[in-house]
Amino acid sequence: MKKMNIKNLKNGPGNLVVITLVGLGVLMLLAQFIENTHFNKKLSYSEFVKKVELDQISSLTVTGNEVQGIVTEKSPTGKEIRTHFATVVPHNAKLWNSLLKDHKVDVTGAYPSADFGIWNILLLAMLGSTIMLVWFFFKQARGANGSNGNNIFSISKSKAKLFNPAQIKVTFDSVAGAKEAKEELYDVVDYLKNPEKYKRLGAKLTRGVLLVGEPGNGKTLLAKAVAGEANCPFFSVSGSDFIEVFVGVGAGRVRDLFAQARKNAPSIIFIDEIDAVGRQRGSGQGGGHDEREQTLNQLLTEMDGFDTGTGIPASVIVIAATNRADVLDKALLRPGRFDRRVEIPFPDLVSREEILRVHAQDVKMDTTINFNHLARCTPGFSGADLANLINEAAINASKHNQDKVYLKDIDEARDKMMLGKEMKTRTFTDEERKITAYHEAGHTLVRLLLHEECDPLHKVTIVPRGRALGVTHFLPERDKHSMSKVEMVGDIMAALGGRAAEELVFNKLATGASSDFARATEIAQQMVRFYGMSKTLGLVAYTPQGPYGYSEETARLIDHEIRSIMQECYDKVLVLLADNKDKLYKLAEMLLEKETLYADEIYELLDIPARASFRLQ
Ligand code: ADP
Ligand code: ZN
Repeated sequence: MKKMNIKNLKNGPGNLVVITLVGLGVLMLLAQFIENTHFNKKLSYSEFVKKVELDQISSLTVTGNEVQGIVTEKSPTGKEIRTHFATVVPHNAKLWNSLLKDHKVDVTGAYPSADFGIWNILLLAMLGSTIMLVWFFFKQARGANGSNGNNIFSISKSKAKLFNPAQIKVTFDSVAGAKEAKEELYDVVDYLKNPEKYKRLGAKLTRGVLLVGEPGNGKTLLAKAVAGEANCPFFSVSGSDFIEVFVGVGAGRVRDLFAQARKNAPSIIFIDEIDAVGRQRGSGQGGGHDEREQTLNQLLTEMDGFDTGTGIPASVIVIAATNRADVLDKALLRPGRFDRRVEIPFPDLVSREEILRVHAQDVKMDTTINFNHLARCTPGFSGADLANLINEAAINASKHNQDKVYLKDIDEARDKMMLGKEMKTRTFTDEERKITAYHEAGHTLVRLLLHEECDPLHKVTIVPRGRALGVTHFLPERDKHSMSKVEMVGDIMAALGGRAAEELVFNKLATGASSDFARATEIAQQMVRFYGMSKTLGLVAYTPQGPYGYSEETARLIDHEIRSIMQECYDKVLVLLADNKDKLYKLAEMLLEKETLYADEIYELLDIPARASFRLQ
């Protein structure tokens, strides 16, 4: 996770630069304004003389040979217009004195002063703000750096956030599921709690644990829970925090971080996104990889150097997180460094239920909510997604002024998360609605009729959300790691059921089925290329990267096989739906009426024996 350093933004010299620039801009505008409006109208000497003769000038000020004053004219409407003027009097102007006397002009003399124009003021302002800027910058640097004389600026200080034991509220109990990960980390906790126990026997313990998994599945949470369990300080930093444009800065930060951690030992350093610093060296990834390599080398040195120096090994454990373990430099994974690797997978059914329960604790929930069913409805959700689901549901409930969260709120939140925002504004023609109803009814009916081959039904809806016109929801009975051929064919047929129903009922083809086809094709090609489930290609895995690759001829055969699987499935679906046309019509018409149908309503309507029904509302 990337965090912005807010404190730096507020006080940093960056802001000062902005303020100064804006200030200068305003000054310049002001200067122009003054020059345009306030400065005098320039008159030629003869114009000036004429105006004196017309008695339009009653007083003036003379500075050297420059004359300034006010001209008072009458506009055609009889209004008096007063204008400041200035003019320069030629040295030998004769008319000067007598003319002014004749027309009773009041003359004032003034000493010529240094020409202190607006541009000079501006220059001074610029100089001043530059000095201020430099001064602030130095003050900042010194202030943040304390008395540490080694560093010129604060950038060599680690950006790690320190959590003291008293601040850490999470323990292993806060982490739902993740059983294996917790078991692995219990050792680490024990070591941090009783380092002597291990040191006594000279046991060499892991110093580094690598948590590998997709974002949002609780890597940060787990690492913090280790600190919570062991009751020790927790330094949290992101790999990208080490990276700066200046060479040597990252290494400096690593050194500083480890020094702090040692001082606070036993302690934990958590490095999120370690791949930002830990990529394979010499891979030349992007510019400035010199800096990154230096940083990485420093990290390796620090991890090796835990035991040296004081003679007493410092109990500092480094936990790093990544979802790209494959790009890490091998040196990082050597014994004594990150030699323990813990996978943090997406939560399975049981874990999802637990995670939902953990997060539901903070929210007022309807007591009849069945968390097992909720978990079934959320395959592929990460821990963070599940936390978000509960939160969104609570927001929905608050919006509706309810005093607790009901299942419908969760359902609404889930649909929104899965399919994008519910679109209330977009309207559909009756024709479109009808086609969608038959399309979804087709998907649903195929699944119901194929019974054994497909996941049980959850609900069907033709309420449009996001880009999907309608949706048929099914609940996998278990998290699938493998599928049988029957199941795969069942999935293809169900995906094609939408289009087949359209063809049967309306006898024309619409474009709404493209994602269905994409899904069906994907499954078919997996059958052919990876699982040896085709008729002619035999038991070979055809991957372009595989040991054999494949020829163009084979590619043609693969295409052919995929097409024939698809066609065969489609033909079967057409027959299946034609044989059950009455059910198709019943279902579609009911959908048009109610928009959303739940599994048990459908079983009842079609008189199909219910199979594990999961009514959500
Ligand atoms: P990662 O570091 O893997 O990206 P986080 O630890 O930051 O994931 O998880 C984000 C949030 O998701 C956590 O703060 C927590 O609310 C929720 N979460 C993730 N996994 C779990 C879990 N196993 N149990 C409870 N909450 C979880
Ligand atoms: Zn469809």
